[in-house]
Amino acid sequence: MAHHAKLKSQVKVCPVCELSFHNRKKWQSRGLWESIIYCSDKCRKNKKAPPTPSTPPR
Ligand SMILES: [Zn+2]
Repeated sequence: MAHHAKLKSQVKVCPVCELSFHNRKKWQSRGLWESIIYCSDKCRKNKKAPPTPSTPPR
């Protein structure tokens, strides 16, 4: 018997920090888990910003 196969998608990997994170109550209660990509707003902002804003070519 498969045990709680429904919960297999309760863990995602943040593409920014590459750490796995679990569903949170605040996301679950709002049904946001499906659209959650990053582990936190911090990572979401990091992804938004270009990797190298203005680095001198040296
Ligand atoms: Zn992250």
